[in-house]
Amino acid sequence: MIKKIKGIVVKEIAYKDTSKIIEVLTNDGLYSIVAKGAKKVSSPLFLGTTFLSYSEFCIYEREKISTLKSVDLINGYKNTLKDIVKLGASSYLVNLCMQVYKQNSSNEIYDLLLVGISKIDSGINPLGIVNILEIKLLKYLGLKLHLDKCVICSGDDIKSLSLDYSGYLCKNCSKVSTDRKILKLIKLYDTVDLNKLNSFNVSLDILLNLDRFIDEYYSKYTGLYLNSKKFFKDMLS
Ligand SMILES: [Zn+2]
Repeated sequence: MIKKIKGIVVKEIAYKDTSKIIEVLTNDGLYSIVAKGAKKVSSPLFLGTTFLSYSEFCIYEREKISTLKSVDLINGYKNTLKDIVKLGASSYLVNLCMQVYKQNSSNEIYDLLLVGISKIDSGINPLGIVNILEIKLLKYLGLKLHLDKCVICSGDDIKSLSLDYSGYLCKNCSKVSTDRKILKLIKLYDTVDLNKLNSFNVSLDILLNLDRFIDEYYSKYTGLYLNSKKFFKDMLS
């Protein structure tokens, strides 16, 4: 059956001399597609089948591996391809989203990845976008942070952000305190509509501080292997 799908190329695997198998994440699932001859620059299937391309694919659909008939590139994220920090951030987001997707194949993960990549390409702070996705993706792992009231007593007078309790603690329940800017920023990450985010003005110091908390949270609770985050962070410094 011939079918049209729109999605992001999240993986390329070499196949025979000139062909490749691509994995495409769409809003109705993950497709494995053979793209015959697509490794050749002269192939009409070359453009639109490289990693990170957002394209419309016309495929012969089969149960396990479909075959690519034609492809139209919608967005190749040109700014990202020529900027190693942006590319590192988007590559990490693909890696992260696919690991989360394996545990919870919600369509919303595709939507988050698509908007995350396009915001990074449009020039918004890559670390900020990465952190926002990291916080939003926790929901799909069943590890959402509690950022409404104190986790222990439901009090409102919030004093700290706790790794051990996965969220806010109030002044009666917490001996330590967290910078108010960080308390506000993590809540913003959790609730902001990424589609509407057009600028991002946070000091690097606060940004890195919250990023450290997120890294610790991921390593303590998620069990995900995320070497590509380290690679991305190395490029920032
Ligand atoms: Zn409390």
